[in-house]
Amino acid sequence: MSAPAADSHGRFVSYLRLSVTDRCNLRCSYCWSCHNMRFLQHGDILTYEEMLECIGAASELGISKIRLTGGEPFVRKGVMGFIEAIRRDHPAMDVRLTTNATLLEGVPRCLAELGVRRINISLDTLDPETFLRITGRDFFGRVRTAIDDCLEAGLRVKVNAVAMRGVNDHELGAFLDLARALPIDLRFIEHMPMGDAVPWNPAEFWSAEDILVEASRLAELEPLERDKESSGPARVFSIKGGAGRLGLISPLSNHFCGTCNRLRITADGRLRTCLFSDTEYRLRPALRGRGACRGRLARIMRRALKTKPVGVELLRARKLGAPVALRRMQAIGG
Ligand code: SAM
Repeated sequence: MSAPAADSHGRFVSYLRLSVTDRCNLRCSYCWSCHNMRFLQHGDILTYEEMLECIGAASELGISKIRLTGGEPFVRKGVMGFIEAIRRDHPAMDVRLTTNATLLEGVPRCLAELGVRRINISLDTLDPETFLRITGRDFFGRVRTAIDDCLEAGLRVKVNAVAMRGVNDHELGAFLDLARALPIDLRFIEHMPMGDAVPWNPAEFWSAEDILVEASRLAELEPLERDKESSGPARVFSIKGGAGRLGLISPLSNHFCGTCNRLRITADGRLRTCLFSDTEYRLRPALRGRGACRGRLARIMRRALKTKPVGVELLRARKLGAPVALRRMQAIGG
């Protein structure tokens, strides 16, 4: 392996989020907008072989953890075979997934057999009607069953909820009850103003600080030491008498750009060094040109890394109306 790559702020990357498709079977109101909606053409989406090349190049930069995301990773055919191929080619790579868990019937056991240990499940409400309102689909039961199936298969489960005042804040008690009953990591993520034409209502912003105050009234919380394996950018708390834990992710109110270790690759092979920056580096020409491409890819990645920004400044500008952070989450992968 070559030397790990640092950016101009001295940050090292070790974590790649790879979007396997921009398509999703849900229509979450905060993530998606039908205005000017265009999905990628089939030929623009990287093949799994091309994605494996990207992973190979990224591992030369020091990437040791990869998260498959989307769109919804499980709407793309052959994703299990792809995971198997990653595990075969990179046995030491920590492979994780972020999913809406609506298509997981029979899948958790197979994931465990492939050596996947951790899965993030997005679930913003515990009420089937609110679920239908947020996502446009009546799939709450599927997701709830999938959480149990993942736990039964021995996977570590994070349940990620986007925090939205007036939408799911009244469910905080129910979420805490879930984290008392099940050994899950419950995470509230501040709603980020991302994507062109995706509605952003400042009145809906429910800050991590407010969640902490409100959760502390409902449960006895104890702050936990940051655990590199599972905390990520979250502040994590134990819940007295509970099997699970509560985590708060505050990209806006208390950002973690200073320790950001992430790269992202979109399904059409665009490298992003920051979730909030619209600067993208096209990997497809290197992948589809002539000759061996891994070295070329690694060079592009190293060059891109030099300009990795401190993204929260962009996000704050967006909150004030600046035209940045325009690519939609479903196209980036979160
Ligand atoms: N379909 C998968 C899923 O639902 O987890 C993966 C893709 S989805 C874009 C990844 C994560 O981004 C989800 O947890 C989703 O809730 C989150 N997300 C999307 N838009 C967001 C926003 N504006 N602010 C905060 N989180 C957002």
